Amino acid sequence: MIIDLRSDTLTRPTQGMLEAMFAAQVGDDVFGEDPTVNALENKASQLFGKEAALYTPSGTMANQIAIKVHTNAGDEVICDQTAHIYNFEGGGIALNSSASVRLLKGNRGCITAEDVEENINPSDFHHAKTKLVALENTTNKGGGAYYNFAEVEKIKAICLKYNLKLHVDGARIFNALTETGQNPSDFAQPFDSISVCLSKGLGAPVGSLIIGNKQFIDEARRFRKVFGGAMRQAGYLAAAGIYALDNHIERLAQDHLNARIIGDIVSALPQVKNLLPVLTNIVIFNLKEGMTSADFLKKMKEIGILGSSFGKQTVRLVTHLDFTTEMLNEFEKRIKNTFCQ
Ligand SMILES: *Cc1c(COP(=O)(O)O)cnc(C)c1O
Repeated sequence: MIIDLRSDTLTRPTQGMLEAMFAAQVGDDVFGEDPTVNALENKASQLFGKEAALYTPSGTMANQIAIKVHTNAGDEVICDQTAHIYNFEGGGIALNSSASVRLLKGNRGCITAEDVEENINPSDFHHAKTKLVALENTTNKGGGAYYNFAEVEKIKAICLKYNLKLHVDGARIFNALTETGQNPSDFAQPFDSISVCLSKGLGAPVGSLIIGNKQFIDEARRFRKVFGGAMRQAGYLAAAGIYALDNHIERLAQDHLNARIIGDIVSALPQVKNLLPVLTNIVIFNLKEGMTSADFLKKMKEIGILGSSFGKQTVRLVTHLDFTTEMLNEFEKRIKNTFCQ
């Protein structure tokens, strides 16, 4: 049995999800006629208490469309230095939006209102126009950390004061809300746009959403077409998204519990120097001198456990829907046998 903890994107549709996909009513979504895509978009906008939503093929496209709508060429985006929008979207902010980026040094990927305010450019002709603040929740490189809502509200106050838009890359927003217990619509309230991945912890094979007011989504729909992301009978995929929202949110707590147990197991290993406190479904740990992540991952692979490198001596493991209790028991047994001697 291979235990794959490289990412929560690796899940395959469950039987129930596949049945929902097979049963989907479809039409041409570019004509606005796919009832299942429309149902998914309505469901998402209601869930987050906004006017409208748009289904996209990927989370990257969702973020890049949002940035495109919120900025003009030459504007500046403020985000954390580890942000997915900056590090893992192929330089898309520059390529798609011709915008510059101000990178902040946050705590595990989370930035503060104070830091945002200090990095807003003065409005004179020497400077790029600061236009957008983009948060990430939970943070990927930050190891699944999430925002305290009081800080989000402070950031919003700064955005209002300086007339900036506020976006959140919520690829793993339901992991954050699982821990805080907050309603999606209460969380969404300060944001001009929210992107949400259906294909991470929620277990859909494909798809993300952008959520915002009607005018924002109308413009986003235009850029989705421009970016090549307007799909035809996408309802077969959207059905997986509806199923995921209905069935796979509550179980995220199990992923978080599994991640904490994995954290306890690895932090006790002689090769492990330290572990970032496990807050959601991402486990990140640093190795001691003499052990590289490449060597550690190779040894893990030999016993059928896959993880990913997050630096020369840093390893990341992510729990998800396809990681079972049986696998957790196996993980503990194999890891202890291999690394504790
Ligand atoms: C995965 C992820 C995305 C989007 O990824 P896609 O693979 O394009 O769907 C965006 N932001 C964060 C933080 C992510 O982890």
